[in-house]
Parts: sequence; structure tokens; C-alpha cells
Amino acid sequence: MIRSQDTPADILIVDDTPANLDVLSTMLTRHGYKVRPALSGALALKAAQSVPPDLILLDILMPGMDGYMVCEQLKGMESTRDIPVIFISALDDVRDKVKAFQSGGVDYITKPFQLREVLARIENHLTLDRLHKQVHTLSSLKDQMVRTVSHDLVVPLDIVRHCVQSVRSSESLQGDETARSQLETAYTAVDQMHRLVTGLLDLAKIESGLSLNLRTLTLAELLSDPLQAYRVPAEQKQVTLQFLPPPPVSVAVDPERIAQVLNNLLSNAVKYTPSGGTITVSARHEKGQVVLTVQDSGIGIPTTDLPRIFDRFHRVEDDAHLEIQGTGLGLSIAKAIIEQHRGRIWAESEAGQGTQIRVSLPVT
Ligand code: ADP
Repeated sequence: MIRSQDTPADILIVDDTPANLDVLSTMLTRHGYKVRPALSGALALKAAQSVPPDLILLDILMPGMDGYMVCEQLKGMESTRDIPVIFISALDDVRDKVKAFQSGGVDYITKPFQLREVLARIENHLTLDRLHKQVHTLSSLKDQMVRTVSHDLVVPLDIVRHCVQSVRSSESLQGDETARSQLETAYTAVDQMHRLVTGLLDLAKIESGLSLNLRTLTLAELLSDPLQAYRVPAEQKQVTLQFLPPPPVSVAVDPERIAQVLNNLLSNAVKYTPSGGTITVSARHEKGQVVLTVQDSGIGIPTTDLPRIFDRFHRVEDDAHLEIQGTGLGLSIAKAIIEQHRGRIWAESEAGQGTQIRVSLPVT
């Protein structure tokens, strides 16, 4: 929850020396904070779990559980993981400071401290934390909105696409060239919209951590359907589609999802390769990984675009690419799926020199 500006921040101070607790408590209360003192690590953990504070000031040297251990435990629990922890300690060695950050602290104040410094650091971290939560809230709101809008659009778009398609292929428009061409334009537009909306829905589904339906398949089994599906489109475009025999290894994958990746890569290869070109699909086995490659002799990707083609909506902005229909979502979906399989996807290309998209997956 985002703390309203009017509610005083709730600060938990942890120190085994009552005198230290008193000094900090008095000072922070005077500056308008709500303060809860804890005399040991165990008491601090209990207090933080029952009512999570906005920030914790944590001493390091305490008998029993020291500050590092307390911080690690806080970071290990869902309810206290995100509370900023500032260490306050007389230890001034750089190793102690590094250890404090490694255990999950956001800041370190050395004793004896200056009052104003402690206040400034507390305010700083409370602001950062507030902004962080706001960004998180906005981002999930945006994801939710994209999901809802896409979901509500997909059915009506499907209906419109279906109707336009059936009128388009009916005999009744024979001779009316204007109507035919307008229907053609309508179909292209609605089909593009449909792809965009289903792509966004797919991406949202995958990014929300959809569980994988894993099965163990040989590479030949994995590649056979997608290759079969692209034989005709490649032939129609007079592009040669060849498949080099893969090594006899198996991978544990969700076949439907990996087929979606391969379909995307093959669809791009066919789209961005002019007639007379060649697409080669190959696989090799190295260091516990299988590397699949879809190589084409097409229009290529300029070097400056290479790092961004896996970003959603990124399309190469030159005439050669933009005259071919696309949504800029296919490769971001492919990346999300491959990363869910603990694999990697990357591209090698140069403008005009063809493209190689490689996917690596762990071998079972
Ligand atoms: P799109 O639907 O636009 O093809 P993708 O996410 O699949 O979306 O690809 C992103 C962009 O990367 C494409 O718009 C295109 O500019 C470029 N691209 C992808 N694959 C290829 C390829 N094989 N050859 C040339 N350009 C490609």
C-alpha cells in the first residue's frame, strides 16, 4: 500500500542498548515519526511480521541474532521482504559495510551519527520506497488494462474478421471491383488488429507465469510440425526451405509453446526473404545445450536495431521492413517463452545480408 503523505511513517528501531534506543526514539518521535523500539533481533522479527513498518533502523552487533542475520531473515519473508533496512553501526570497516548491503540493507550509517544525516537518509529511503511502490502499482494497472482491453476486443474482432472473410470469398461481388478492393482493405486491417490483440493477450498470459506443460521430445519431433506448416507458404513465395538433420538429442519443453516460437521465426524468415532466397533450419548440440538456428538470406536487420528487435512493438523502420505486415510482437513473445524454458534467444544479422536467429535450450 502507498503511504499517504499525512500518515506518519512507522519506523522500527532495533538495538540491544536501551540508551541508544532512547536517543533515536526521542529524536524521531520529535520529528513526527511513529517509532517502535525492539531490544533484540528476535523481537524485531516478531514486530515486523505482525505489523510491517515503513522502514527499519538496524544495529549490527547484538547478542544472539546479529543485524546481518535479522536482515537476511526479513528479506527471506514475503511480508517483510520489501521493507527498507538501514544499518546503524559502530563498525567502520568496508567489509562490514559490504556485508550489510549483501544481506539486503539499503544504506549504512556509522556511529556516532549526526542527527541530520540520519533524518536525511530516512527521508530519502522512504521517498524511494514510495516511488518504487507507485511504479509497481502503475505497471500492474497497465498490464491489467492491456489484458482487459485485449480480452474484450478479441471476440468482436474475430466475428468481424470472419464476416469480412466470408463476404470477400462469396460470388455476389463478381464484377464490382470497387467493393472487392474495399473489402480487401477491410480484411487486411481487421486481420492486423486481430493479430495485435491476440499477440498482446499471449504475451500477458506468458508473462503472468503460465505453467509449462513439459514433455520430452527429440529435435526431429519438435521441428517437424512447424517445418511442415511453412512448406507451402515458402513454396508460394518461391523461397527454398531446407532442414539439416538434427543431432539425436531430446529436450524437455512445452511443445505447443516451442512450436509457437518456431512458427514465429519461420514466419519472419518467409516474410522478410524475397523470392529466390533460402531458409535453412539447423540444430547443434554443445555443452549441455541444443542450439537451433533459423537462417535466411533475406533483407537482414541493421546492426543498430539488433539489440531491440526482441522488445515489444519494435519494428525496423525502413521501407523494406515496413512494407511487410507485422505487429512487432512475435519476437518478444518468442523471447518470453524461451526464457521461461531457461533458454536464450538472440539474432545475428546485417542489413541486406540475411538473418540468423538462434535459440538455445538445455538438453535433458
Ligand atoms: P513482426 O510481426 O513485425 O515481424 P517480430 O517481433 O517478429 O514482429 O519482429 C520484430 C522486427 O524484427 C520485425 O518487424 C522486423 O523488422 C525484424 N525482423 C524479425 N525477423 C526478421 C528477419 N528474419 N529478417 C529481417 N528482419 C526481421
